[in-house]
Amino acid sequence: MSANNTTNLPSHRDIEKDISDYLSKKYGDRVKIIGFHAQPELEIDSTITADQPVKKKNTYFDFDIKPEELCAYLDEYVICQDEAKAILSTKICTHFNRIRNSIDNPLQAKRTVGQIKNNVLIIGPTGVGKTFLIKLIAKKLGVPFIKGDATKFSETGYVGGDVEDLVRDLVREAGDDIESARYGIIYIDEIDKIASARNLIGADVSRSGVQRALLKPMEETEIDLKVPHDPISQIEAIEHYRTTGKRQRKLINTKDILFIMSGAFTELDDIIKKRIQKQAIGFEGDITSKKESGRYLKHVKAEDLISYGFESEFIGRLPVLACLDELTVNDLYEILLNPNNSVVVGKKLDFLAYSIKIQFSDEALMEVAKKAAKEQTGARGLVSIMEKTLLPFEKKLPSTDIKFLSITLELVKNPQQELERILADKEHLAFYEDQYHRLYQEEHDRIKDLIKQKREKFLEEHGVLATPDRMGIMAKQCQDEILDIRDVCEKFMDYVSHIKECEKNISAKCGIHVTFSEEAIDRILARQPLNPEAIKSICETLATAFEYGLGLLEKKKGLDHVVIPGVGIDRPEQYINDLVRDFFRT
Ligand code: ADP
Repeated sequence: MSANNTTNLPSHRDIEKDISDYLSKKYGDRVKIIGFHAQPELEIDSTITADQPVKKKNTYFDFDIKPEELCAYLDEYVICQDEAKAILSTKICTHFNRIRNSIDNPLQAKRTVGQIKNNVLIIGPTGVGKTFLIKLIAKKLGVPFIKGDATKFSETGYVGGDVEDLVRDLVREAGDDIESARYGIIYIDEIDKIASARNLIGADVSRSGVQRALLKPMEETEIDLKVPHDPISQIEAIEHYRTTGKRQRKLINTKDILFIMSGAFTELDDIIKKRIQKQAIGFEGDITSKKESGRYLKHVKAEDLISYGFESEFIGRLPVLACLDELTVNDLYEILLNPNNSVVVGKKLDFLAYSIKIQFSDEALMEVAKKAAKEQTGARGLVSIMEKTLLPFEKKLPSTDIKFLSITLELVKNPQQELERILADKEHLAFYEDQYHRLYQEEHDRIKDLIKQKREKFLEEHGVLATPDRMGIMAKQCQDEILDIRDVCEKFMDYVSHIKECEKNISAKCGIHVTFSEEAIDRILARQPLNPEAIKSICETLATAFEYGLGLLEKKKGLDHVVIPGVGIDRPEQYINDLVRDFFRT
């Protein structure tokens, strides 16, 4: 089937006829198909049409995220791009908070003034964090997200998919939960490829046609979730009609779906530069702009995008604009230094799959950054350089006894040569293993510092005191299990709430108010393995050990509250015996 020609697609009747022919071949005249044309009224799925009030109030908007919180989250993962992070976190947060507000106040939703959607246009070269930022935002907000490519669109619809298909994909991504998909994010990359060609005389009809096709979904339209040319949907619809006698339509309204478009927009810089220089002839005051050569993109205006080949209606529906900068060698190095970066983490996981632990030296990471910068593909270059460098090791080491390896500057510079030396020379291998342990400790201290700087306040707000011991255990978990700092902190908050629960259970069992000292909590958290079941089991052991002694102290000495010290966790029997003895001695 020709992918972009809808006229070649079968109509409902064609499909019906094909199915009918097939059925009569197989069953003769005994089985008949009921055609859509014979169908009575349209049953529109009432939970999902445009103007229906949202029944489940706030189900999808129980978050209360503020721009600063979202921006701080992005800072943990995305290096540089501060201006874009500020714009995106603010405007996207506002978009979703406005929706929440209009769900809470239905009168707001009916307003016709001031209802401009914060659709976003992101401009920036490849590999600088455009997709990464939006994925992180969608994850943090907990909304479904789908990415498409504008080069796949054609005016009349199908090439590899069109915008309506993206909306359907979004529903699929939301686990077929239409209500959730209504508040999703659709991200369309390579949008600059649908700018009409500027060197053509007359309009470039097909590309501006694609832009026009996007206008309605970007604003508000209803999209049928059943694809007219999809035989499976058709059969489902027929089945539904056969059993209920009603024709069903499932629609999704795009009013609250956020559209984010992005592209590299090469040559846009020149257009902006020309405009600024033209204006500067008459306005000496604007002359400073000229000095910022290479940074013209930051001054982009709607008129520049129109000169680039976009229709003004299209640009008008993208009121939020964010420009991302190219990443320098130092930025790439910073990315690698961040313990949350996926390049180093991914490589560690690759080796860990063979029980091999690796650590990178800072000089090695700088060398990777330098090599990656030459590729001119932004942070994507980091992945390809890392792969190229470590591939011989990933191939060879799993067949050896080597379990620890440091990735040093020398190794990045001459991977093959160093691999051969490591395999041939035991002393050389010992050097690489020693380096591994030294680098592990350096990384440990760095992660502890990061937890202190970035997470201490958050942890304490959630009832978890960030003691040095505890930060050490968290850092170790981040390193050994190769986990994200944020995830480990959240796990610890969960563990501490389990421990608090156990305090209650032990108190109930022993008949007095039992609390764990922070030292005692540290001791529980230091146990291996650490998980909710293990915590529960430790607490059961403690409750059994303490029950008799604490009960006795309550009855005989009127004790009503005890704070368990660290030793009470390490040696519960000895602790309780000493405690009882001390009480009866006095
Ligand atoms: P694009 O700008 O082409 O959409 P991506 O966002 O997909 O590029 O970047 C590719 C990968 O590079 C990301 O998944 C991320 O791991 C890394 N990356 C890109 N930019 C940054 C950045 N500014 N900070 C941290 N990592 C980044």
